Order: sequence, then structure tokens, then C-alpha cells
Amino acid sequence: MTGNELRQKFLSFFAGKGHTIVPSSSLVPVDDPTLLFTNAGMVQFKDVFLGLDRRPYKRATTAQKCVRAGGKHNDLDTVGRTARHHTFFEMLGNFSFGDYFKREAIAFAWEFLTRVLELPPERLWITVFQEDAEAFQLWQEVAGVPAERIVRMGEKDNFWAMGDTGPCGPCSEIIYDRGPEHACGAPLCALGACDCDRWLEIWNLVFMQYERDEAGNLTPLPRPSIDTGMGLERMASILQGVDSNFDTDLLRPLINAVEALSGLPYDRGEAGFPFRVIADHARACTFLIADGVLPGNEGRNYVLRRILRRAARYGKALGVEEPFLYRLVDTVVAIMGEAYPEVAEQKEYIARVIRQEEERFHETLNEGMKVLNGIMERAGKEGRYTIGGQEAFTLYDTYGFPLDLTEEIAGEKGFKVDRAGFEEAMAAQRERARAAREDTRAYEFALAFAGSLNDISGTEFTGYERLEDTGKV
Ligand code: ATP
Ligand code: MG
Ligand code: MG
Ligand code: MG
Repeated sequence: MTGNELRQKFLSFFAGKGHTIVPSSSLVPVDDPTLLFTNAGMVQFKDVFLGLDRRPYKRATTAQKCVRAGGKHNDLDTVGRTARHHTFFEMLGNFSFGDYFKREAIAFAWEFLTRVLELPPERLWITVFQEDAEAFQLWQEVAGVPAERIVRMGEKDNFWAMGDTGPCGPCSEIIYDRGPEHACGAPLCALGACDCDRWLEIWNLVFMQYERDEAGNLTPLPRPSIDTGMGLERMASILQGVDSNFDTDLLRPLINAVEALSGLPYDRGEAGFPFRVIADHARACTFLIADGVLPGNEGRNYVLRRILRRAARYGKALGVEEPFLYRLVDTVVAIMGEAYPEVAEQKEYIARVIRQEEERFHETLNEGMKVLNGIMERAGKEGRYTIGGQEAFTLYDTYGFPLDLTEEIAGEKGFKVDRAGFEEAMAAQRERARAAREDTRAYEFALAFAGSLNDISGTEFTGYERLEDTGKV
């Protein structure tokens, strides 16, 4: 089953259960300055859950574009190291706004996984919140999952909250066991409590049933709600019988394109890391730009710049000397353009934006690498395995190296970066810029003031000397 078919199957299944198919919202959250990017399906329904917004439906289903880079959920450093994390991914979800609750949510999920997708039930494990006896019971009763495959977990993993106050509740995750041959060898791995690629978390069901007040008290919501999220790429990897998201039809063509551009073969192990990073980042850049984000120096724009420059640097690591990332936009569009017309419609624009940013970075990348290697060589000789804050700042300011890029390159050679020192240098620079702006403002003010004097007197402004002479300034 292709990724596109899976997305469609999910939406149709829930439409058949009375859910309205709602389009994905933008990666840039609307009216929500607290959130860098849309990072889950529920984001566009936040106000509906809070009762602040009403919709003509009580059940909805979506395939939501998500980015988890920067901010609270940040998977940027994990990409390419695990088989299952991306910066950009799609989350399939079903939602109940005060309509059905736990029993139906569990029944729907189980039916979809075991009847529609025909996953072998014995491979599926369930986690529940340790105090949620109801969910523990329902998984056995409704889905027939034996108690020994239902694991009770603590608040950190299995209790979800929208914020410090507001709607919250226990959650229940469905985990697919890839089998003992994928075990990582950690002592607890065999018990199903491991974070490695053997245990693949595919679906999270959130049971929103309480409201938390300022004092931390939980009051049951009169009409509890459901919010679920399933990773499309992860489920595709299971259905396509591959060990990694990067080998699914949603990402493999991008890896192939990188092979063609670099002339190097992809390796599923460590050596293939740059391929995976580039494939992932090409999707993230394409979709972010399609939703109106441009590379820049602040906030969202800076996250995009970091992702893009990181991909550019890995291209270089593969020996690709020219800008190349923009060429992958076509491949992203070929895979996803039908489901997301916004990327197909804007593909020339997106490629142009990426290319410009790549070109800008290429101008300084080689020089910057030389400088950084020089710093490391000197520091290494002195037995100092830290890049100074000012040095990292120069790389940032003069050569366009985002701090985490410097950290990553340095880390590969066993060096750390003085982050606090970098922040100090950055603050000092900001202060200088502010002072310079004040000077400019004072100057402009003086000019404007002089201009208004002219207006009044009808005589020509002859300079600051005159102003000073009048004693008015
Ligand atoms: P994990 O523990 O694997 O990092 P999570 O618990 O952070 O996942 P949730 O917030 O529960 O993830 O999101 C719901 C679902 O979205 C997950 O069960 C998973 O299938 C998918 N998902 C989450 N993060 C990513 C990611 N970075 N890349 C791809 N899919 C993801
Ligand atoms: Mg996570
Ligand atoms: Mg998890
Ligand atoms: Mg989860």
C-alpha cells in the first residue's frame, strides 16, 4: 500500500464512521504566537476543544502537516539517527468534540489497524496511564488485547495537557513490535519499555477528560473529547515491509535523487546519515516555504534557515559542490503534490527561494569551514576542546553558520561550543546595533526638526551650527 493510499484509507475509514474530512491547516499556526509550527493534528482544533469555537461537526478526521523542529517538540537532532523521526511529517487523526469517548476511540483504532490494515494483533502493544483503569479494562474488553501486552506508564509519557491549565487527560499509545531481531540490547528492551527502533510508536490516543485549574486540581469535563495522532510515514513503513521510514515510497525517491546527485550509493547504516538528513530537510523546506515561511534571522524564519543550511552542508559532505537542494523540490512534488496542491502550484517559487538561500550560503560555506577547521586545529593543539563564544559568533555573523551547525560540525570532532559565550557576543552585537540605531534616529530627528524650522521661518536650513547658535537644541 502506498503512502498516498494509506492517507486516503484512513480518511475514508473515519468518514465512514461519521467524521467530517477537514483539510490540513497551515504549518504556521493561525493566531497562536505561543507555537512555532503546527506540530500535531489537534492544533487547528484547539479552540474547539476549549469551547471557544464552534464547528458544524462533532467528529473530524485529518491528515495534518506537522513540523517538529525548534520549540517544545524538537526532533531535529534525531532525524536520520532513528528510523522513525522527521522534522516534517504527516499526522493522521480522528477527533471527537464532546461526542464519543474512550470506548469508541479504542474500537475505531483497533478496527482500522487489525481489519482495514490487517496488522497481526499479536504484534501490537498498548500503553496506558497508570491510573487509567478504565482504559486498561477497555483495551481488553473492546479489542481483546491480553493484559500482559498492556503496559502502565507514568505521567511523563501518558498524560497529556494542552498547557499548565485547561483540558488534559490520560493517553494511550499503540506500539508495533518489529520483532526481537530489531532489539537494541538494552536490559529493559525485551520488556517493551524501550525507546529504540524495535518498539515503534504508531498511534497516540488522547482522552481529554479533565480541566486543570490554577491550583492544579482536576475537574472532570462535562463532555470529554478525543484527539488522536498516527504517523503516516511510520505506518507506511510497516505496511511496506521496510525497517525505516526512509525506505518507504514517501521518502525513498528523495534518497534516490540524492544518490543521483552525488553519484554515491545510499547506505542504510551510519554512512547513509547525510542522505536521510537531506531527504527529510528537503520536505521540510518545501512545505515551510509553501506555507509562507522564508529563510531569515528570527523565529520561524531562522528555523527554516537552519534546516536549509544544515542540508546544504551535508550535500557538501557528500561532495556535491553546487547548490542542489532546490532540485529536490520536483521529487517532493512528485510524491506529495496531489495530496498537497500548494506545493505543486508553487514549485518554481519554492525552488527559487531554496536556490537563493543555498547560493548565499555557498559563498561563505567554504571559507567558514576553513576558519572552523583552523580554530579546531589550534584549540586541539592547546588541548582545549571548546570553540569560544566569540569564535562561534564570528562564524555566525560573518560566515552564516547557525550555532547548531557549528555545534554539529565541532561535535563530530569531539569539540564543544561555548554557548553562553556565543549568547554574550550576540547580546553585545545587539546592543551595538541598538546604539547605532539610536544615533541614526537622533540624526533623523535633528534633520526633521531643522526641516520644520525651515517651514516656519521660510528660510533655508544651513546646518547644525545655526541650530546650535539659536540655543534651541
Ligand atoms: P516519539 O515518542 O516516537 O517521539 P511522540 O510520542 O513524540 O513520538 P506524539 O506526540 O504522540 O509523538 O505524536 C503522535 C504520533 O505522531 C506518534 O505516535 C508518531 O506516530 C508520529 N510522530 C511523532 N513525532 C514524529 C516525528 N518526529 N516524525 C514522524 N512521526 C512522528
Ligand atoms: Mg517525540
Ligand atoms: Mg512517545
Ligand atoms: Mg506519543
